[in-house]
Amino acid sequence: MPTSPEQLTRYEKIESFVKGFKLSSLTYKRVMSLLDEEMKNGLRSQTNTYADIKMFPTFVRSLPNGSEKGQFLALDLGGTNFRVLLVKLDGNSIDIQSKTYLIPQKIMLGTGAQLFDHIADCIAKFTRDHGLLGERLPLGFTFSFPCKQEGLNIARLSKWTKGFRCEGVVGQDICRLLHEALKKKTSAEIEIVAVVNDAVGTLMSTAHGDNNCEIGLILGTGCNACYMERLENVGLWEGDYSYPEQVVINTEWGAFGDNGCLDFIRTEYDRELDTFSINPGKQLMEKMISGMYLGEIVRLVLERLTTEGLLFRGIDRECELFERGRFFTKYVSEIESDRDEFFRSTKQVLDELQVENYTTEDCKIVRYICTLVSSRAAFLASSGLATLINKLGRPEMTIAVDGSLYRFHPRFHNLMRLKIQELVKPGLKFSLALSHDGSGKGAALVAAVAMRLRDVKQE
Ligand code: BGC
Ligand code: MG
Repeated sequence: MPTSPEQLTRYEKIESFVKGFKLSSLTYKRVMSLLDEEMKNGLRSQTNTYADIKMFPTFVRSLPNGSEKGQFLALDLGGTNFRVLLVKLDGNSIDIQSKTYLIPQKIMLGTGAQLFDHIADCIAKFTRDHGLLGERLPLGFTFSFPCKQEGLNIARLSKWTKGFRCEGVVGQDICRLLHEALKKKTSAEIEIVAVVNDAVGTLMSTAHGDNNCEIGLILGTGCNACYMERLENVGLWEGDYSYPEQVVINTEWGAFGDNGCLDFIRTEYDRELDTFSINPGKQLMEKMISGMYLGEIVRLVLERLTTEGLLFRGIDRECELFERGRFFTKYVSEIESDRDEFFRSTKQVLDELQVENYTTEDCKIVRYICTLVSSRAAFLASSGLATLINKLGRPEMTIAVDGSLYRFHPRFHNLMRLKIQELVKPGLKFSLALSHDGSGKGAALVAAVAMRLRDVKQE
């Protein structure tokens, strides 16, 4: 920490550029009550049209009970990678084989036809390589974007988020698009039986074996949560009211703040990041939390401090630190894992970005900025979870969590645990459980439940 008077003013000046990231508990509580209000607006049919948080009912009505069985294909689309998985379920044992395929940025920003043809090509290749031609393959599709579902396997895309913006898909049923592409590309007997959001897959995967689990959270490229809601609270529900009278709600809380209600906490860096994103004005809560954005927020702060002469004095303006999108969120995790004053990872990152002649003091400041940005993210996610935990009011709740940010950031789990503890109503116990392969296993479980229900109906 600062010693000489010269350094003292340096730190004081830095503080004036970053104080917006330090929010009080009172502020997080205000965020919670706003979120609670917005979620209620999303659930009521009269207000849903105007609500930012869409609270989509998913048609997933019950959690797995451990008797799920069979062989399923699963797809995972929406994070950094696209994966095809073969999942074999038999009671509590599960076997997963998977392959990751790249989705080139050209396709992420191309047409829907190109996207679904590409996906179908990957599936065709996967089924050939795994000797699955000729087998009947039910498919569960983890599609991690906001969709309005009209059934377990009918899902209309409501908008693209994260790095995707393919033309001609919004408003379309993505199952139909996939089905048509598959017909062209493969002779395998694949039937799409369920679409699930990744948050829902994560919930399913952990609930398979933990009866207290009714909330799923994703902290990855994007951010989202889902939870089990009673049908009587779901004004939007158009399905039947048979037992069990509950349904998993995909909140899509990443869009929280799109109506301006979070402007009181957004900083100049948040605004700049948003302006240069592919979806300005959208997903404002997500842009303060998730992996696609945290690194860029840090980079914008570092850039500002450098311009102000408070960091990297004498740096070359051409260096890569000044390129948009060049500071990955994994750097934030790496930098924060430096616990001593040798700054081994921090230096490695700075070298990679071609920053020259930095001092140990510079490293200290860089790490400090990372901790501020990631703590705010963890605390906002905590406020969201605490809102759900309080709303459900169960004495004990397990929250299933997945996503690269949560997995790889060294402090996220602990920051969240402590913050949620501070924000939940007294007496409510909770635990955060890392979910294993929610997207693969979760999608297969939903598909399995769908097949079981179908068999029951046919009997
Ligand atoms: C999407 C959600 C998804 C989340 C995490 C968000 O951008 O809108 O559907 O669950 O990212 O992948
Ligand atoms: Mg994922």
